[in-house]
Amino acid sequence: MAEFQSVRGFHDVLGEDLKRFRYVSDSIRKLLKLYNFEEILLPVVEYLEVFQRSIGEITDIVQKEMFVFQDRKGRWLALRPEGTAGAVRAYIQNKLYALKPYTKLFYEGPMFRYERPQAGRYRQFHQIGAEVFGIQDPQVDAEMIDLVYTVLSKLGIPATIEINSIGCRVCRPAYREALSEYLEKVVGHLCDVCMDRKDKNPLRVLDCKVDTCKSAVKDAPKMVDYLCQECREHYNTLKSYLDKLSVPYRENHYLVRGLDYYTKTVFEAVSDELGITLIAGGRYDYLVEELGGPPTPAMGFAVGIERLSMLIKDLPQEEPLYMVLPFGDVMDYALEVVKKLREMGRRVELSYRKAGLKKQLELANKLKADFVVIIGEDEKKNRRITLKDMRTGKQETINFPELVHETL
Ligand SMILES: [Zn+2]
Ligand SMILES: [Zn+2]
Repeated sequence: MAEFQSVRGFHDVLGEDLKRFRYVSDSIRKLLKLYNFEEILLPVVEYLEVFQRSIGEITDIVQKEMFVFQDRKGRWLALRPEGTAGAVRAYIQNKLYALKPYTKLFYEGPMFRYERPQAGRYRQFHQIGAEVFGIQDPQVDAEMIDLVYTVLSKLGIPATIEINSIGCRVCRPAYREALSEYLEKVVGHLCDVCMDRKDKNPLRVLDCKVDTCKSAVKDAPKMVDYLCQECREHYNTLKSYLDKLSVPYRENHYLVRGLDYYTKTVFEAVSDELGITLIAGGRYDYLVEELGGPPTPAMGFAVGIERLSMLIKDLPQEEPLYMVLPFGDVMDYALEVVKKLREMGRRVELSYRKAGLKKQLELANKLKADFVVIIGEDEKKNRRITLKDMRTGKQETINFPELVHETL
C-alpha cells in the first residue's frame, strides 16, 4: 500500500524546527506574563459569521482563504484564520467586561488559511496573540508596540516596526473618498483585484503587493492628513510614548493591514532579513460592539510563530544529557540510579539497548550524550557508578548517591 502523505499545506513540526518553535513560543509566553497578560484557550472552530462580521466580507481572508464547512445540522462553521475574532466573541460571551475595567488576554494555537503553500507558509500555522479590551488611551498602543519590540530584541531578530493611523468613523470616510478619487485617476495601472477593491474597500489597494499597484499608489493621499482632532492627538501621543520608551519605529503612511476591523493605530514588524511581516496588530475600537458587546475600545497583535522560528539562528544550550548504560544483571540498580538522577533534576536517558560497551558508546554519541553513567555488576555490588565525561573522555568511579551531589 502506498504511504500516506500529510494534507497539502499541513505539515509535521519536529526535530530542530520544533526546538526553535518552542523556544520562540516559550520566550513570548514568558514576556506576556511579565506584561501581566492572562491566557485564554479558544476553540479552533467558530460560526462562519463571527469571521465575516469581524474580518470583513471584502477581504482576502474571508473571500478566499478560509476553511469553511457545514456541520451535520447544516450550520456554517469555519476553522479560525486568526485569533482576534474568537477572542472578541469570548470576551462578550463570558461577559469579561463586567469583571474588570479592562482585560488583558493572550491566546496561542493553530490558525488555518487556504493559501498557496510556499517556504515558511502553511495552511495550518501557529500564532500567539495578545489583546487589551476596555482602554482607548494610546498608552496601551505604546505598551503593546513596546512588547513587540521586546519580543524581537529578546529573540535577536532584526526587524523594523512600522506604524500608521487609519483613523476612525469620523475621519475615515473623507479619506476613503479622497483615495477613491485618486484611484480613479490611476485606474489603468491597477490589477484586477484592486479594480474590484477600489470601490468596495479602497484602503486595501494600498496593501496590494502587485508592482504596478504599488507604484500607482505612490502619490496617493495619506490618512495622516485627514485625521480628526482625536485621532491626530492619539497618533502623536503614541509616537511621543514610543520615543520615551526608546522603541524605534518608522511611519508608513500606506500601512493599512488586510482586515476591516482596525481603527486608529495599525502596526507591523517587518523582518530586515526577509522583508516579510512577522508581527502585526492594531486598534479595533468598534469590533466588540459590532459583534454584539458593549462599546469597548481594544488593541491587539498576533505573532506568527513559524516565521519567527525560521529566523532563530542559535538556540540556547540544552541541559546536559546523562546516558545510563547497564551491563549485566543490573537493571534494578540502573533504574534506581536513573530515578535518583532525575529527582536531582538531571536529563537522563536509560539505554534500552542490550549490547557491548562499544555499541553502547556509539549510541550515546548518536544521542549527543554529555556524560555516560556506566553500571556493571561491580558498580551494583558496591553501590557506585562510573561516570565518563564524553567531552573530555575523563572517567571516574564514585559512590552513589552520596558523591553524585558533589560530582555532577
Ligand atoms: Zn478620527
Ligand atoms: Zn493590486
